Amino acid sequence: MPILREYRVLAAKIRQEYVEMAQVFSEYQQATGLHCPKSCARCCSNPDIEATPLEMLPMVMDLLDSNKLTSEFIEAIDQSPLCFAYSMDQNNPLMGQCLQYKNRPSICRMFGVAGYKLKDGSPSVSVCKTLKENYPEEYLKLKNEANNAPLMVKWSTKIRVLDPDLGFKYYQINQAFKLMAQKVMLLNEYEQT
Ligand code: SF4
Ligand code: SF4
Repeated sequence: MPILREYRVLAAKIRQEYVEMAQVFSEYQQATGLHCPKSCARCCSNPDIEATPLEMLPMVMDLLDSNKLTSEFIEAIDQSPLCFAYSMDQNNPLMGQCLQYKNRPSICRMFGVAGYKLKDGSPSVSVCKTLKENYPEEYLKLKNEANNAPLMVKWSTKIRVLDPDLGFKYYQINQAFKLMAQKVMLLNEYEQT
């Protein structure tokens, strides 16, 4: 069984990759001219966002270190189908903020504009609904230059390979968090006895 110290080292490696990933995708999105509207959080209001337990490790470790990773915290996660880190605007469910922005998983760093390969291997680009609606001309142009887009699979795989067991399978984001949190809590309990 890995000891908590090894998880800390792993979390630090993931954070390093996250910084680079955010920079690459953010710079690309800026260059396309498809800017997210202020306070838009439509992507966070989707209950089907998925992540691997591994991707949630940096968040879990920070919560552990700030003494917030309690059984009550874990139980409260099931009270909403939406991501537990989403603080929704009371007047508009599509607006709000991420309470775990620094440690958000891969998908949350690639929501806006990202590249992927079609079945025949040709490049395509995934653009969120809001950006498509707000920038129809830029979106069409982008589709013709899809080979410039950073690939989702390449960047998410850079994280997944850091621990193929924890990074293999995707779960709904709250479930992925809980799986990782429960492992870490158990190890923490074990190391303190
Ligand atoms: S982790 Fe943050 S960015 Fe990702 S879905 Fe949850 S609230 Fe949104
Ligand atoms: S990626 Fe799309 S849905 Fe998410 S904040 Fe930007 S514009 Fe809004």
